[in-house]
Amino acid sequence: MRVKALGTFSHHGLMARTTSFQIDDTTLIDCGPGVEDLPTAELLRIERVFLTHSHIDHCQFLPLLADIHASHDGNGLTVIGLQETLDAMTTHMFNNILWPDYTRITNSRGTPLIATHAIDVGDSLPLMDGIITALPCEHTVPALGWLVEGPWRALAFSGDSSPCAGFWHWISNVPSLSDVVCELNYPDTLRGFAEKAGHQTPSGIAPFLPLLPPNVQLWVSHMERGHENEILNDISANSPGMLQIDILQPDTVIDL
Ligand SMILES: [Zn+2]
Ligand SMILES: [Zn+2]
Repeated sequence: MRVKALGTFSHHGLMARTTSFQIDDTTLIDCGPGVEDLPTAELLRIERVFLTHSHIDHCQFLPLLADIHASHDGNGLTVIGLQETLDAMTTHMFNNILWPDYTRITNSRGTPLIATHAIDVGDSLPLMDGIITALPCEHTVPALGWLVEGPWRALAFSGDSSPCAGFWHWISNVPSLSDVVCELNYPDTLRGFAEKAGHQTPSGIAPFLPLLPPNVQLWVSHMERGHENEILNDISANSPGMLQIDILQPDTVIDL
């Protein structure tokens, strides 16, 4: 199973895109603007979008992706997330004001262009070659992390989260865990700001890092523009030493 990073930062511009991942050809985690760089044929192969939460940097391309399925008579999309996240989508995005209500518009086969599937922490769904499980997360709105388990290895994604003991304890018990994609929006000098915004800093997650199996790759994502080096220095100083730590760059492919 292949996980490809399409957007990895908290901001736009200067080649940066906000959060989204592609799992094999048919599945997305979040739907930031990096998705729009895919060719139309690939966009039409996407069947499911797993959302971490409702913030616009994680779902802003979803309306246009639905539009591409509409204009090409595609198969449509199933959007999976917390009920609160799905309610936010239907109330504020697909409401016939901001964008057409694609939950009520069908393709020529009678399939809605947007279907929704509510999920809760601990629920799992099969992927083509693995399984995905919703993980605990603490943010300013209801939110999830995701655990993606392939045939050999597993990747955990924190979503947008303040330090969440439930997430770290959960993933520390996954024997095949090989990769953790962790949001670190701010450096430690902006910890107060991070706490107000429901994000985390390197020293905030430091107590949890020794729980991880040895040789896990920690990918840092969702960094604030201009603070990348400071964040990387902070997390390196807070690491127990057995972790591989790198900034998650767009187009990084992780094989599970
Ligand atoms: Zn957020
Ligand atoms: Zn975000």
